[in-house]
Amino acid sequence: MTYDPNNVFAKILRGELPCDKVMETEHCLAFHDINPLSRHHVLVIPKGSYVSLDDFSAKASEAEIVDLIRTLGEVARMQGLDESGFRVLSNHGRDARQEVPHLHVHVCGGQDLGVMLRLPK
Ligand code: AMP
Repeated sequence: MTYDPNNVFAKILRGELPCDKVMETEHCLAFHDINPLSRHHVLVIPKGSYVSLDDFSAKASEAEIVDLIRTLGEVARMQGLDESGFRVLSNHGRDARQEVPHLHVHVCGGQDLGVMLRLPK
C-alpha cells in the first residue's frame, strides 16, 4: 500500500478537517472515533505518514514508536479504562478491512467488549 496524503486522517493532521481531540504529543494525535463501537472509542495516530502498523513498525523511529505506545496507555488512563479494562486494535490491509490508509490504533472500552474476534462465515 502506498501512502495517500489525501486520506481523512492526513487532513485532520493538517487541520483541514476537525476532530474531537483527546490529547496530542510530539509524535501522536488521539481523538474520538466518529462512529464509536464501544462506550469509549479513541483513535491514536502517528503524525508521520505511515500507512499501517506494518509500515510503522518497519520505518518509524524509536522515539515515534515509544510515543505511540505511551500515548495508548495515557489515553486508556484518561478515559478511566485502566481499572475496568480496554482493547487495543489496529487493522492492516484487506483481510483486516482497514478503511483509512494512515496508521490508527483503536482504544475501546467502557463496557464488556465481548469475544475478541467474530469471524464472518
Ligand atoms: P479501520 O476500519 O480500522 O480503518 O477504522 C477506521 C475508523 O476511522 C473507523 O472506526 C471510523 O469510524 C473512523 N473514522 C473515519 N473518519 C473519521 C473522522 N473524520 N473522525 C474520526 N474517526 C473517523
